[in-house]
Amino acid sequence: MKEPFLSAVPVIKRLESAGYEAYFVGGSVRDYLLGNKISDVDIATSAKPEEVKAIFPKTVDIGIQHGTVLVLFKNNSYEITTFRTEGEYQDFRRPKEVSFIRNLNEDLMRRDFTMNAIAMDANGSIIDPFDGQTAIKERVIRTVGSPEERFREDALRMMRAVRFVSQLSFHIAGETLLALKLDAHLLDKIAVERKRAEFEKLLSGDNRKNAFRILLETQVFEYLPGLKKRELKIEKLLSYPFDFLNKKEMWALLLYCLELDQQNSDAFLRNWRLPVKEMKEIQDILLYAKQRLIKDWSRYDLYTAGSETIQSAEKLYLVLKGINDYDSVKYWLNTYDNLPIKQRSELAVTGSDIMAWRKQAGGPWLKELLTRIEHAVLQNEVVNEKEKIKEWLKACSQKSEKNC
Ligand code: ATP
Ligand code: MG
Repeated sequence: MKEPFLSAVPVIKRLESAGYEAYFVGGSVRDYLLGNKISDVDIATSAKPEEVKAIFPKTVDIGIQHGTVLVLFKNNSYEITTFRTEGEYQDFRRPKEVSFIRNLNEDLMRRDFTMNAIAMDANGSIIDPFDGQTAIKERVIRTVGSPEERFREDALRMMRAVRFVSQLSFHIAGETLLALKLDAHLLDKIAVERKRAEFEKLLSGDNRKNAFRILLETQVFEYLPGLKKRELKIEKLLSYPFDFLNKKEMWALLLYCLELDQQNSDAFLRNWRLPVKEMKEIQDILLYAKQRLIKDWSRYDLYTAGSETIQSAEKLYLVLKGINDYDSVKYWLNTYDNLPIKQRSELAVTGSDIMAWRKQAGGPWLKELLTRIEHAVLQNEVVNEKEKIKEWLKACSQKSEKNC
């Protein structure tokens, strides 16, 4: 066994010495068997949430109705979930109520795919009742039990299958893929927030091109916000060499391919329930990339965009142009780094300085003048020093206002 499991073994041992069973489960065991980087270590136990809380002094209730308690242990935190079955499913969504059980096998049985239904004990022994290890060897995504039944219980599992294609470069087993085509419409019942979490993982995966192909092939895209009847636009997206784009840049590329105006692109991102800050970042990337299709970056655009947006917008521009050489990203970032100021607060003069010099109360003229000074400093027309700017303003007003 290796980290991060090793640090978590004492957590399992504590549960065991209190008389309960406990195992590593879920994505961490799968990724460990795959030899991939392991993210969060999840633990499943026969102890009920209150019993878990009685054993560990520091816990946080993060999903107690589903049996999950977050345990803080030696600078790490672990999600510990009580073995459970999910009882009756309502309306193709995961059930509101779960029943806690004392049996590991039944807990593994309610999990989505065989590769995700493997447990590992504190000694590193594997418990694998559904032959998930073979699925991992064959790189195949196969539901635990009948795919149709499992997708009808919780339709989100279909999105999860496609995001695992993207994340793990696995393929979907024949019968499971067939059920996906048959039941794709059930995704209509699923909360957008749950779909988004899976879609964003899909957007970030190495094999996302194939995942998008499966969204098309199975018609799953028809049941995702803003993608209904957008088959041709998604096909257009697939024609771009987007291997090096990150998640936000992928959202921006998707917006570009959908050819939405500002208002509709707002609505699209809002329908996906993206946080407002991210919406703005994505739209900025697209805005500057589109501008870049027409002309080089101006110093003022570099200044207003900032380094992160410059990098993303330039990358997106290169993808749109089919250019494989990323040197220009470095070039523009370097130009940005050498700008004399990065934000207005770095100007050597303030509004009050100017009002004092001009002996004039503030007003729209002041904002306009500050913007002109900003431009002049950025273009190296004037050095960003108080006295230099004062002289420059004086010279300007002696010529004509228009010159500055
Ligand atoms: P990742 O590495 O991306 O976190 P993961 O497999 O750990 O992948 P999670 O969403 O963290 O995915 O879920 C943890 C585990 O819970 C899964 O491995 C699976 O066993 C189970 N699970 C999650 N969602 C579902 C679902 N909708 N239906 C059935 N089992 C699920
Ligand atoms: Mg996980």
